[in-house]
Amino acid sequence: MLFRQLFDAASSTYSYLLASRRGGEALIIDPVLEQVERYLQLLRELDLKLVKAVDTHLHADHLTGLGALRDRTQCITVMSEQSRVDVVSMRVADGDRLRIEGVELEVLYTPGHTDDSCSFRMADRVFTGDTLLIRGTGRTDFQNGDARAQYQSIFGRLLQLPEETLVYPGHDYKGDTVSTIGEERRCNPRLQVKSADEYVELMGNLKLASPKMMDVAVPANMKVGFHQEEIARRGWALTAAEARRMVGQPEVVLIDLRERCERERHGSIAGSLHVPYPSLPENVGAGGTLHALARSTGKRLLFYCAFGERSAMAVQAAQDAGLTSSCHLQGGLAAWKAAGGRVEPVNTAGG
Ligand code: FE
Repeated sequence: MLFRQLFDAASSTYSYLLASRRGGEALIIDPVLEQVERYLQLLRELDLKLVKAVDTHLHADHLTGLGALRDRTQCITVMSEQSRVDVVSMRVADGDRLRIEGVELEVLYTPGHTDDSCSFRMADRVFTGDTLLIRGTGRTDFQNGDARAQYQSIFGRLLQLPEETLVYPGHDYKGDTVSTIGEERRCNPRLQVKSADEYVELMGNLKLASPKMMDVAVPANMKVGFHQEEIARRGWALTAAEARRMVGQPEVVLIDLRERCERERHGSIAGSLHVPYPSLPENVGAGGTLHALARSTGKRLLFYCAFGERSAMAVQAAQDAGLTSSCHLQGGLAAWKAAGGRVEPVNTAGG
């Protein structure tokens, strides 16, 4: 496995780059905007294709690199279902599996530092964001923080993991890089409490100053959504109402770009072809199945996803490949449902 722990000195943030092999797909956790060029260089050097960029929570102390990485690499942006961010490509909930080639992360919803905090667990390690730090825990005094919820997230979830599980936090201010669950249980001063009440009291008495970047970072980090307006100006976007009128017409092919777990949880529009977004390039390019479908049979490709971000990038890729009648459902399945569009269940056995 390829694993890189990357540090942003200005905010003491750790970002993590994961991939199963050179030349393969990569995922990054908690990228920092100012470091995006460095990540892109590292991706080139290791011959990796960035497929997903994930934030553990809405950050208050640095600007997220999610939007910039998406714009530069067309990767999928991922945050929690609870995040107040305007648009990400994919939202995850407790128990979901976040996958790229050869790597699988289990999503643990661990609120407390914020109400959208998630941890991500791999076989031997867990990325704890700001929920559990090395010899510390993330503050709980703003952004819907909740010390009682954090106690439950730490004691009820993270400390239940095997002792030897490696802990990779979202920050460290002293230069520590990694710990283990067992070590934190024994040595983390915040975790030597006997009850949730005691933990709540301890967290309530920290009297921390607000992060320097907070007033800038929080509003900026809530607006990382892809500018779907530009796609609309080019005439490539359909409103949910327009899409509803087109569905069922013989020349229209609906293409669902979401992943299997999203389809199973939220259903799909009847008659959709399932083409997960990461496999789009080989499908829309010359020689690809969708390319052939659009070119030889004159079908019009109508892409959709969860919130319209992946489909907006897909329609751009299809247009670039010469499939000029391609369009997408603006706002995705969320907009479709809001407009009263029907969805049907997707069975777990199907793709
Ligand atoms: Fe944080």
